[in-house]
Amino acid sequence: MSIQILCPDYVQTVLAALQSAGHKAYIVGGCVRDSLLGKTPADWDVTTSALPEQTEQAAAAVGLKTFRTGIKHGTVSVLCEGVTVECTTFRIDGDYKDSRHPESVRFTPSLAQDLARRDFTINAMAATRGTDGWEIIDPFDGQKDLQAGMIRCVGNPIKRFGEDALRMLRGVRFAARFGFIIEDKTANAMYACAGGLKSISRERVREELIGMLKSPDPEGAIKTLKRRGLLKFVFPYADVTASARGLNQTSADSPLFRLAYLLYDAIDDAVQKTTADLKLSGADAGYVRTLLALRGEALQSTPLFARQMIAKYGKDSIPALALRKVKGEDTTALSDTVAEQLACGACVSISELAVKGADLSGIGIPKGKEMGAVLGALLDEVMKDPTLNRKETLLALAKQIYKEK
Ligand code: ATP
Ligand code: MG
Repeated sequence: MSIQILCPDYVQTVLAALQSAGHKAYIVGGCVRDSLLGKTPADWDVTTSALPEQTEQAAAAVGLKTFRTGIKHGTVSVLCEGVTVECTTFRIDGDYKDSRHPESVRFTPSLAQDLARRDFTINAMAATRGTDGWEIIDPFDGQKDLQAGMIRCVGNPIKRFGEDALRMLRGVRFAARFGFIIEDKTANAMYACAGGLKSISRERVREELIGMLKSPDPEGAIKTLKRRGLLKFVFPYADVTASARGLNQTSADSPLFRLAYLLYDAIDDAVQKTTADLKLSGADAGYVRTLLALRGEALQSTPLFARQMIAKYGKDSIPALALRKVKGEDTTALSDTVAEQLACGACVSISELAVKGADLSGIGIPKGKEMGAVLGALLDEVMKDPTLNRKETLLALAKQIYKEK
């Protein structure tokens, strides 16, 4: 049966360039899996018998530019119609020294060997276009597992997770993304190999976690991580098991919101340690902390309170209130008030006052500490009553405040 794969022209041009130079060339991995699932692949990877230099020559022969993006691993990027296609030579990964890095990679003329080094059966398929349409090369029954909705290791799961512990998190992520279950032997091996995650870089762990949080079933992912003994290696500083309840009802568009949701019951110190441990950027860590800063704070639905929130948290006040809402509190009225105040550009800082330092100097208020105190007092008044934020009014008020001091 011929299978339809909507492979873009630029990829087919690259395949044809390699094939007409006498090499084998296939699309492989995620793009084949996604195509068979009827989803649009994010990128198209090519696997080829051509050695990296041969890929360069084959591309040059049809006028395509190349870049040595991962030459150590056999990857050459070919630029075609403005898009780069990663072409990797068939390879066998050598022995792994530390659940992470293969000691060496060896090129091989065998597609079967290249597919055997891949993590899951659904990721170990290649495809090429024959005279009768697309032909799928599927030595590990990936199509059967795709149909059954099953994540299954290629080969012995204990060995495969021992080679690269990150594969366990990839497996959980794919299960959450596609709504698949993890085959028993693969799942049991996770339990046995969980400790291997200690040798994986925290950045790689974070990326897998973010992938799970972007999926339609992050709650299922957390449950699986817990059941398979992996959760404590992802979150060493906070037990997020209970706080995961209801996570699927939040939007998949904001993994950081979902992370804050998970950390809702953690103490501040654990939040701080978790964001540092996962090596979030300063901006991302700050965002998560802001979302959580409102926990336990008594809220009032007044415009003054809304402006005070904006002064402290800016427009992140809205998601911070949304977080409290999904955790069961009715923050709608305050959230509306904050939105109104943001929309009308309410003054919440000294720099937004209608008078500047120079205006105050003009009426005899000396620069320095005293001027700072007057500006602070003016802001307090304007926060209480935004209609006061007019130059004449504030100058009169400033005189009065200065005189009273
Ligand atoms: P995604 O859509 O998330 O990118 P993907 O399957 O394309 O999924 P990539 O990380 O882009 O994942 O990797 C491309 C292919 O390389 C995979 O399909 C798999 O065949 C192989 N692969 C990636 N990471 C590993 C790994 N850690 N161990 C074994 N094979 C891997
Ligand atoms: Mg990919």
